[in-house]
Amino acid sequence: MKYIGAHVKTTGGVENAPLHAKEIKATAFALFTKNQRQWVAKPLSEDNIKNFKENCKKAGYEPSHILPHDSYLINLGNPDPGALEKSRAAFLDEMQRCELLGLSMLNFHPGSHLNKISEEESLDLIAESVNRTLSKTRGVTAVIENTAGQGSNLGYTFEQIRYIIDRVEDRSRIGVCIDTCHAFTAGYDLKSRRGFEETFEQFDRVIGFDYLKGMHLNDSKKELGSRVDRHEQIGKGILGLEPFQWILGDSRFDDIPLVLETPDEDLWAKEIKLLKSFT
Ligand SMILES: [Zn+2]
Ligand SMILES: [Zn+2]
Repeated sequence: MKYIGAHVKTTGGVENAPLHAKEIKATAFALFTKNQRQWVAKPLSEDNIKNFKENCKKAGYEPSHILPHDSYLINLGNPDPGALEKSRAAFLDEMQRCELLGLSMLNFHPGSHLNKISEEESLDLIAESVNRTLSKTRGVTAVIENTAGQGSNLGYTFEQIRYIIDRVEDRSRIGVCIDTCHAFTAGYDLKSRRGFEETFEQFDRVIGFDYLKGMHLNDSKKELGSRVDRHEQIGKGILGLEPFQWILGDSRFDDIPLVLETPDEDLWAKEIKLLKSFT
């Protein structure tokens, strides 16, 4: 079965996310468990936690179909030791918030080398960051998102993601989320049928579908290989509708959250309906 949703708002508290998801008839959703543009957040209250769990239960959302996203400020591959420490502390806090909410995954962007160290050195720091965090938490899988490779962002090739996975000690708690817009602008041709097949064959060979814990479904404003991350509404960008029809018709993408991060949230209900029609 396919689980389709969007990255919903948490205005008024995390407990409102499942309600917003229900309004747009989503069967999966993503959320930030704290303000994504600030380092420090108020701890979750007992009420936040209780109401979040209750609302998820009432609306029928299982943890395996909820994909929380970490803060944009976090860089687990930061070459500056002080900045790296700050990122690691913030990432641990995010994982602990997921733990408290009874969630089983946290989606994160791997990190950036900031042109100060090599890609490998930064990937090593990322793997070490993940190991430290996993050893201090329980039950939450760290889910690496592929990137467009904008600036010095890492994780734009399947090999870089594999490199991190290979260095993670507890591989039962590491996963991957593939963002269609990021993959395309990083140079994976999802637009042609042949390119789509080859991309996911390569994904399976290099990483393995067992690690796929979620997808971000976004069309792209930018060209193949442009390394620029600009999301577009489904079917309105360069990818067009076909790659999304192929994903929704493919059992390799069953039972994981398929999450829209398209810019106009007023269109999400319509997009979810459209995507459901492809199943
Ligand atoms: Zn994404
Ligand atoms: Zn993006």
